[in-house]
Amino acid sequence: MTSRLLVAFACLCTVVTSGVAVRAQALEPIRYTLRFPAPHTHYVEVEAAIPTSGRTEIEVYMATWTPGSYLIREYERHVEAVTATAGARAAAVTKSTKNRWKVTTGGAPSITLRYKVYSREMTVRNNWVESAFAMLNGAPTFLTLVERAARPHDVRIELPAAWKKIETALEPVSGAANTYRAADFDTLVDSPIIIGNPVTREFTVDGKRHVIVFEGDTALIDADTVAADVQKIVDAGKAVMGSLPYPHYHFMTMVTESTGALEHKNSYLGMTNRFATRSRAAYNAFLATLAHEYFHAWNVKRLRPVELGPFDYENENYVKTLWVAEGFTDYYSGILHKRSGVLTKDEFLNFLSNQIEQVQTIPGRLVTPVNMASFDTWIKQYRPDENTPNMSVNYYPKGAVIAFLLDAKIRKATNGSRSLDTGMQWAMQRYSGDKGYTPEQFYAVMSEAAGVDLKSWFAQVAESTEELDYTEALDYYGLRFRPVDVKSAPAYIGGGTRNDAGRLIVTSVRRGTPSFDSGLNVDDEIVAIDDVRVRADAGLAARLAQYKPGDRIAITVARRDRMMKLDVTLGADPGRPWRLEPLPNATAEQTARLNALSEGK
Ligand SMILES: [Zn+2]
Repeated sequence: MTSRLLVAFACLCTVVTSGVAVRAQALEPIRYTLRFPAPHTHYVEVEAAIPTSGRTEIEVYMATWTPGSYLIREYERHVEAVTATAGARAAAVTKSTKNRWKVTTGGAPSITLRYKVYSREMTVRNNWVESAFAMLNGAPTFLTLVERAARPHDVRIELPAAWKKIETALEPVSGAANTYRAADFDTLVDSPIIIGNPVTREFTVDGKRHVIVFEGDTALIDADTVAADVQKIVDAGKAVMGSLPYPHYHFMTMVTESTGALEHKNSYLGMTNRFATRSRAAYNAFLATLAHEYFHAWNVKRLRPVELGPFDYENENYVKTLWVAEGFTDYYSGILHKRSGVLTKDEFLNFLSNQIEQVQTIPGRLVTPVNMASFDTWIKQYRPDENTPNMSVNYYPKGAVIAFLLDAKIRKATNGSRSLDTGMQWAMQRYSGDKGYTPEQFYAVMSEAAGVDLKSWFAQVAESTEELDYTEALDYYGLRFRPVDVKSAPAYIGGGTRNDAGRLIVTSVRRGTPSFDSGLNVDDEIVAIDDVRVRADAGLAARLAQYKPGDRIAITVARRDRMMKLDVTLGADPGRPWRLEPLPNATAEQTARLNALSEGK
C-alpha cells in the first residue's frame, strides 16, 4: 500500500530488490502512454518506458488479482502483441510464466515495452473500452517490474477526439497535459481511471475535494440529489471516525446496467443501472453501496488486517478478519446512510433485519466459523455454487451482525459513553497504515473501548459456529423480533426453483429442510405432485397451498430425463422470523439508546 512508500521516503530507509538494496527516492519512474486508436474494437494500447538499472535482462509481470476482490482472475489472458525496443533496436521478449515476461535489454538504460489489452469486461476489477468511453483498472492494464521497490509510475493518456475528460484519484503531474503520477505500483492498482464525457459534481468538506462521477447512460441520473446526499454521508463518516483520512476522494459510478463496487484508497468504482435514482428502493440500494465503499476509505484501505499489505499481486493473500474489513464496513454503510438523514428509522431497522436474516437462514453458519469463511474466500466467497449456503457463511452479513452486537456491548458496558465508533477510532489510530492488526490486537482494542475483556466473546462469535445471542442487544435497544404466527404457516419443501422455459427446475436444496431430507437434487425437474402435473408458470407455491404442514406427498421429478418419485413430508414455512421491531412497551431509556445509535449521539 501507499503507506509503505511514505515510510520509505520519510526515514530514507532502503528497500531490498532481488538482494540489492536500492534507495527508494532514487528510483526512476516507469512511464506509460495509453492510446485508443480504435476504441470500438475494445483495445487499449499501452507503451511503457521501463528503466533497466543497467541490467541485461529485466522481468515484468501483470497482477493476477485485485485487492478487495479476492479471487485469482488471470488478467494476463487479455494481453497480446507484447514487443520491446531498446533504443532503435528490437529487444527480445520471452514469456516466462503465465503472467510474466523477460526482456533482453542489451545493456540499454531503458526499454520501451508495447502491448495491447482487450478490454471488454464490465466489472469493477477489469477493463472496458468502447467508442463512447473507457474504464480502466490498474491490475489488468499495467505490466510492471518484478520488484518490491516503491517506484513511481506515470501515466499519460492520449484522448480520442470525442472524449473530453479524464476522472481518476491519481495525482495530476503539473505542467504535463493528461498525465498522472502514482507514487508506487500499489497506488496505480488502487486508482481506476474513467475516460470519456462523464457527468460530474463536486463539493468540499474540510477543504478536501470530493468529486461525483457518472459515466455511461447518465440521462436519467439525478446527479444533483446524489451530490447533496453524498455530502451528508461524508459528514456522517467524519463524525464516526473523527476526521477524513484522504487528501481528496472520487465517487465513480458506471451507469452500464451492471452491478458491483470496489473500494480504493481515494476513490471507489461502482456500477449501477440508469434508473438508480428514480425510485426510493433503488436509490437506497445505490447509496448503501456507496456508503459501504466509502467507509472502506478507513476500514481496510487504511485500518487493515496485517496480512493485507504489502500485497503479493501474483498469489492468494490469506486473511482471517475479512468479517471486520467487510462485515463492519457493511454495518457502517447502514449507520452512515441513517445518520446522513437519508434513511428513515424503519428503513434502518429493515437494514439490520436483512443482515440478521441472511445469517440466521444460512445452514452453513453451523458448519464454518466466520474467520474461516474469510480465510477460504479465495475458493468460496467468489465462487459460490448450489451447496455454498449449506457449508459456509457469508462474512459480510455475519460481520455486520457481530458489529451490531459489539456496538451494543460497548455502549452497555460504558453506560453509553463509548460505542463501536470509539473502538474503530482507536483501532485506526493504532493499526492503520503500515502496521495492520492481528485478530488478537483487534479484540484487545475493542475490549479496551468496552472496559471489559471481550476475547472469549470474539472467540465465540468469530472463531466458532455457535449461534449468535441477540438477547443483550435487543434488550439494550428495546427491540424484539416480530412474532410469527406458526399456526397458519403454509406448507413448504424448502428448496428454490426457477422456471426454465416452462420446466420447473430445482435451484437450491438447503440442509434441514424437507427437500434436503427427501433427496430432492439441484437440477431435478419437478414434473408432478401426487401424479398431477405442476406447471412452472403457476409455480410450486400455488400447488403446495393445496396441502398443510405434515402432509405426505409424492413428488415426481425428471433427473437426467429419468422419471422418479420422492416421498416428502411437508414442513411449515418459517416465514421471516428475523424482522426487528421496537418493543410495544419499550422504556424511554431504551428508545433513547436506539436513537443514539441511529442518530450518532
Ligand atoms: Zn466491501
